Amino acid sequence: MSAGNSRTLTRLQARLRGSVGKAIEDFRMIGPGDRVMVCLSGGKDSYTLLDILLSLKRSAPVDFELLAVNLDQKQPGFPEHVLPQYLTSLGVPFHIIEQNTYSVVKRVIPEGRTLCGLCSRLRRGALYRFAAENGITKIALGHHRDDIVETLFLNLFFGGRLKAMAPKLLSEDGRHIVIRPLAYVAERDIERYARGRRFPIIPCKLCGSQDNMQRVAVKKMLAAWEHDHPGRTESIFSALRHVELGHLADTRHFDFAALEEQRLRTGAAPGSSARIAAMTLEEEDRLVEAAAATP
Ligand code: SF4
Repeated sequence: MSAGNSRTLTRLQARLRGSVGKAIEDFRMIGPGDRVMVCLSGGKDSYTLLDILLSLKRSAPVDFELLAVNLDQKQPGFPEHVLPQYLTSLGVPFHIIEQNTYSVVKRVIPEGRTLCGLCSRLRRGALYRFAAENGITKIALGHHRDDIVETLFLNLFFGGRLKAMAPKLLSEDGRHIVIRPLAYVAERDIERYARGRRFPIIPCKLCGSQDNMQRVAVKKMLAAWEHDHPGRTESIFSALRHVELGHLADTRHFDFAALEEQRLRTGAAPGSSARIAAMTLEEEDRLVEAAAATP
């Protein structure tokens, strides 16, 4: 999208507002009096998240607060001035947490191994701590629909679990509610929006970590599917919202043993379905005869 094409950008913004508003409503993400911490990394997703939430806040029927928070992990070359400058220009309340997780990760993880696992855990810890100390009621993250679908396949292929990334969840310690208001938004729309809005993107590879190869492979697989069968990612995401537990095989989530009891409760005796089918055929015969007799 060319930045000058303001009509296209306005339409795209309206669509993003619609999708984010729907996710907020469907999952009861934000309510009156909520103090929402928007986690900003300086990437396209979190800028878009903040931008759309600010826009929705202006017209929302409920009153809630937004606080933009960035964790400065002290990566070499991190342009410290970019986010404060941008957020000040917007007039948004914000806070920068400074914590040198970079040196911890570099010290602990052997050279050549991916840093992201430990780095994400340390980041989550710092953000949760800040939330607990500052009366935050919701922690908003910038994951979008494609992140959710990728995570589904990563868990499926490498973890043996049918599990994705929830649009809303309670943290493991039970103290925080995490929300993902971009859950219905496609990554390509975020890319177009971020370009159109000219967000001051901060490069994400300052830490020097290698890409997670499994995620890259899944991303490529989904992109190829989408190319050959447009709409497939949307269809997969839709499946996550229409789960048929009785057609899977997890005894923890579906009581297969109770099916006999259920059948008894319906009052049908074994074999009755065959009788129903037979009756239906007789009825059908009678209908055919009646129709043939009609002049
Ligand atoms: S890419 Fe770098 S900053 Fe991001 S999670 Fe991995 S190690 Fe941390």
